[in-house]
Amino acid sequence: MNFGWSKEEQMWRRTVRDFAQKKITPRSREIDSTGHIPDETIHDLAEMGLLAPTVSEEYGGMGMGVTMAAIAAEELGRAEISLALPVLYLVEAAWGFIFDRYASPELKKEILPGVTAGKSFLGIAATEPGGGSDISGATRCKAEQKDGGWLLNGEKMYISGIREELKMGGCHMTLVRTDPSAAHRGFTFFAVPLKDNPFVTTTLVEDWGRQGISTGGFNMENLQLSDKNRIGEANRGFYYAMEGFTFARILIGATCVGAADAGLQMGVSYIKQRQSFGHPLASYQGISFPAAERSTDIETARLLTYKAAWMADEMYTRNAYKHKEVALAAAMAKLRAPVMAFETLNEVANWLGAMGYTKEYPIEMGIRGVRSYSIGAEGAMNIMRMIIARELIGEEYKQ
Ligand SMILES: Cc1cc2nc3c(=O)[nH]c(=O)nc-3n(C[C@H](O)[C@H](O)[C@H](O)COP(=O)(O)OP(=O)(O)OC[C@H]3O[C@@H](n4cnc5c(N)ncnc54)[C@H](O)[C@@H]3O)c2cc1C
Repeated sequence: MNFGWSKEEQMWRRTVRDFAQKKITPRSREIDSTGHIPDETIHDLAEMGLLAPTVSEEYGGMGMGVTMAAIAAEELGRAEISLALPVLYLVEAAWGFIFDRYASPELKKEILPGVTAGKSFLGIAATEPGGGSDISGATRCKAEQKDGGWLLNGEKMYISGIREELKMGGCHMTLVRTDPSAAHRGFTFFAVPLKDNPFVTTTLVEDWGRQGISTGGFNMENLQLSDKNRIGEANRGFYYAMEGFTFARILIGATCVGAADAGLQMGVSYIKQRQSFGHPLASYQGISFPAAERSTDIETARLLTYKAAWMADEMYTRNAYKHKEVALAAAMAKLRAPVMAFETLNEVANWLGAMGYTKEYPIEMGIRGVRSYSIGAEGAMNIMRMIIARELIGEEYKQ
């Protein structure tokens, strides 16, 4: 067992932290209040190799593994605690990996170089108005074979990056039914381009957090796609989705650890200098004990997250774990990290007193941002509990 970081991992963390603290942190409030990530920042991310770094070098990525991708996610969460930019990063890193792993070379060549260069956006569209947790039961979107291609119909909802894709082009990896009789064995992923697509209508919803990246939906009406847009094998989409969710949940864990740590450090600096009743706040155990608790919570979430990341790397490089073992570890990280981050930032807001309720400090952006993860993005909390309970108690007890 080895809990240390390799030289390469240490160097990568330092590099991303230096870059992110210098170039991204100063723009965090602007990202939240303007509701978009500046083009210049996207350009900087691309230059640093931080857009879909998990994609192979051939398509402009770095062929990065899960642990290294998680280190970047943590540092981006630390730098931009509204979490809009980390969302853009992690969606492209996790789902770009799946795209690279399963799409045809022709499709990868068409989509991925633009994504890694920051010229287009890659999103994931699984959720529908009728429900996100029960993909197998609630999915109505379907694709039927027609004239050698596919005809897609149906609506996706609560999807990240709608406005970004409309602006930049790219595609959303869209999960639809291709065999209605086969339950979860009847799903296929397609690359669906939203920009300038007359067979797609889009909507946007107004979120109360992570304002710099949009959430919305799209409706496909007789959208004809060539077979080239199919990602991987027909009827294997559900399995690719589960694999992508596992990767994304690890990156969410890391992002939440980064945001919580950034908030805690801000809080610690404040309580050291703020005097009350003649002493610094930090000298009162009513403040320092919760700080110690939160620091331990962050470390707990960090350990769960990086254990899952390490297992995922071991699965991909040495076949040392089965996907369901990694999915279990990722579910535990996703179950703990967002709640931990919310509670940490909420606690820090208390220490700041009235200042904690103003926009002087970025804490409120963090509170709003991390809540998206404990509500549902990349899987609701009860779904994490279901994955864990299924392994603990047994599949036969699952309702
Ligand atoms: C900001 C944001 C961005 C998102 N971006 C994307 C995206 O890019 N792509 C995408 O595909 N989706 C995205 N989602 C959707 C997300 O994946 C879903 O919200 C999530 O899967 C939950 O689905 P739902 O919202 O339909 O809730 P539901 O499935 O209706 O669940 C509602 C509640 O019931 C609970 N629940 C459900 N079933 C059970 C059960 N059997 N037992 C006990 N409790 C249960 C859930 O835990 C949840 O608390 C995003 C969501 C948010 C909030």
